[in-house]
Amino acid sequence: AKAEGRRTHRFFEPDMDARAKARLTMEQDLRQAMIDGGFEIHYQPLVDLRNDEVSGCEALLRWRHPERGMVSPAEFIPLAEDTGLINELGDWVMQTACAEAAAWPSRIRLAVNVSPVQLKSPTLALRIAHALAASGLSPDRLEIEITEAVLIHDDETALAILHQLRALGVRIALDDFGTGFSSLSYLKRFPFDKIKIDRCFVSDIEVDGSAAIVQAVVNIAAARNMTTTAEGVETEAQREVLRKLGCTQMQGYLFSRPRPASEIRPLLGVCSEK
Ligand code: C2E
Ligand code: CA
Ligand code: CA
Ligand code: CA
Repeated sequence: AKAEGRRTHRFFEPDMDARAKARLTMEQDLRQAMIDGGFEIHYQPLVDLRNDEVSGCEALLRWRHPERGMVSPAEFIPLAEDTGLINELGDWVMQTACAEAAAWPSRIRLAVNVSPVQLKSPTLALRIAHALAASGLSPDRLEIEITEAVLIHDDETALAILHQLRALGVRIALDDFGTGFSSLSYLKRFPFDKIKIDRCFVSDIEVDGSAAIVQAVVNIAAARNMTTTAEGVETEAQREVLRKLGCTQMQGYLFSRPRPASEIRPLLGVCSEK
């Protein structure tokens, strides 16, 4: 057994080494992209299910890697979090997206994802307040999307920051609801303005018990003065079920994929010159 253990160790060593190197390379590339302007933001419309009008857009970060092409945020956000780069990157997203949204009609809100790591920084609310002031975007047009990971540990700094943001007039949405270790008790930890129902409940809403779950979430939200947004709506049939269930908003490829600002503006009724 001992010999086998050693062999396994020897077998894995070069592999681990390669992975560590790949990580280090990607970290260096991330830092370089921050300097070179290798990031861009795409926007995906949020559509009101009651009147089919666009009422918001979510900012989704994109990285154009010089050799690898478009790299998914699912791949580089975790690394940016581990290395602390997420704070600088998050500030850039906030500043850039607020400046863009300030040019949209005032009925269109801007949703920005904020990582649990960013909510550890005691100056976050101040930096967001600066981004709002610099852009001229009214705080009530900004919606911060956070995941329940923030709430699991009952982190006092994170909760204090969320309350500071709320005091500024910023709205707070609970993202990816129903995934991970989410529990209804998290809804008691903070008075959210919105619940975003994860795509997994939408994709099989016509098949199994998902519709009943979505209905329950919509009811809870309504009872607590929150709105609901269904993520990942891809078909007309899904949209109709969600509408019947009383869901407030939808987001998904059915209406539009995330696209560059210049392609989104015409959908919002803004003449595009930039
Ligand atoms: P998310 O916040 O849950 O964002 C929704 C994801 O679903 C996006 O993936 C979007 O492109 C995708 N999506 C939208 N509609 C549909 C649909 O109809 N079908 C399918 N299959 N997918 C759809 P994306 O852009 O790859 O982003 C992945 C995740 O990366 C986001 O998940 C978010 O957690 C994170 N992320 C993106 N931008 C930022 C950012 O600026 N800051 C932070 N901290 N995280 C970000
Ligand atoms: Ca989100
Ligand atoms: Ca989500
Ligand atoms: Ca997600």
